[in-house]
Amino acid sequence: MVGAGPGGSAAAYYLASEGFNVIALEKSRFPREKVCGDGLTPRAVREIDLIGLPTPREEGWIPNWGLRMVGGGHRLEFPWHEQDSFPNYGLSLARASLDHRLAEHARSAGADVREGWFVTGAVRDERTGRVIGVTAKETDEKGRKIGDEVTFTAPVVIAADGVSARIALGLGMERKDDRPMGVAVRTYFETPRHDEEWMEGHLTIWDGEPGKSNLLPGYGWIFPLGDGTANIGLGTLSPHGQPSGLDHRALFDGWIRNGITDWEIDPDAPTAKVQGAAIPMAFNRQPHYVPGLLLVGDSGGMVNPFNGEGIAYAMQAARRATEAIVGWRDATDDVAAEAALAGYARQMKDDLGGYYSLGRVFAELVSHPQVMKVCTRYGLPQPVIMRFTHKLLADVYEPRGGDWADRLLSTLTKIAPAA
Ligand SMILES: Cc1cc2nc3c(=O)[nH]c(=O)nc-3n(C[C@H](O)[C@H](O)[C@H](O)COP(=O)(O)OP(=O)(O)OC[C@H]3O[C@@H](n4cnc5c(N)ncnc54)[C@H](O)[C@@H]3O)c2cc1C
Repeated sequence: MVGAGPGGSAAAYYLASEGFNVIALEKSRFPREKVCGDGLTPRAVREIDLIGLPTPREEGWIPNWGLRMVGGGHRLEFPWHEQDSFPNYGLSLARASLDHRLAEHARSAGADVREGWFVTGAVRDERTGRVIGVTAKETDEKGRKIGDEVTFTAPVVIAADGVSARIALGLGMERKDDRPMGVAVRTYFETPRHDEEWMEGHLTIWDGEPGKSNLLPGYGWIFPLGDGTANIGLGTLSPHGQPSGLDHRALFDGWIRNGITDWEIDPDAPTAKVQGAAIPMAFNRQPHYVPGLLLVGDSGGMVNPFNGEGIAYAMQAARRATEAIVGWRDATDDVAAEAALAGYARQMKDDLGGYYSLGRVFAELVSHPQVMKVCTRYGLPQPVIMRFTHKLLADVYEPRGGDWADRLLSTLTKIAPAA
């Protein structure tokens, strides 16, 4: 396993629970910061429940009961729906804690999570080209590589190394340039509203003077963390992954000074540095399986293009990767074993391909400022439209049954070609 973020740690947990010998090589040391919004929707809570990690409030997990959307002169609350497949709440927890807990959870199942190991590349069988391991170097406390390169061999390797996708890139797997890509920045501020149990999203991010310039495709967020602070950030979407040329720090600065005055933050006193990163979406790196190697999470571009959420999908991919690897172990001959591993890529497309194809259309549409304007001004206050849109954006619809919105969504995602 390369990387012990949510994808790597969940896979390490699942595989160790299945009795596999798992080594997860993680370049950093926990607890460590990760640039993120720290927000978990009901979909992510479901994945955390599935690995059996407890989430009590007294240990810092703060629940949220829905999404408050602000934009176009509206401020409306959309509670998470009561559904069979998902809990009716989300959570927030800073990634420094979340990722540490996930790694410890993987260890508790028997995985050997090694911190301070930087993986330098994949090792391939010279004859067949199959991935049979990785090379890695130990790092010191400052992250500097030390010592000799060490080779780790494994019958199956998972690359869960995040957006840098070093392993995949080293194998020549470039990102697809017809997929949306996000860019987001975030930091933390003290706020008296730190323990509010709602996620807040602001849909009006302007590229100049508010009200007189263009609306950008993206949103700002405030995710209270219950510890005196909130994670506050802003992201934009580029429909084909091309650089937008936007100065996200300047956009962020303008928004926190003018757009969120009711949170009583001091815009000049963030409690951490403003940091940003790219967000790889809609399966922008494929295939998700090449002989011997599975891509899980951001390394395979698995972030939801509708909302920028990636933790749930990295953990879902970890679950699916484990199913495939169990199939490989239980297969009775080599052909069936290889087919079981290859089934992972197909399963991910079955799970999310149609939905992500819709997401690509969405990214295209919202990149037109007029569309954003009409949606925020006229769409937000329409309960029928918003029932559907809320489920669509948060990806919490029932795949089978449910109400009319669930049925419509599940039909649309089935019709949309998975690519
Ligand atoms: C600003 C921002 C806000 C976001 N907000 C949210 C949000 O609120 N909710 C949400 O669900 N998603 C959010 N996302 C997306 C989310 O952060 C990612 O989708 C998620 O972290 C993906 O998990 P992962 O395990 O695939 O990768 P990562 O979390 O990136 O984990 C990869 C791990 O691999 C390690 N690694 C990398 N290279 C190597 C190497 N060569 N050797 C060894 N180890 C290596 C890294 O140190 C890291 O620990 C946000 C992203 C950004 C940029």
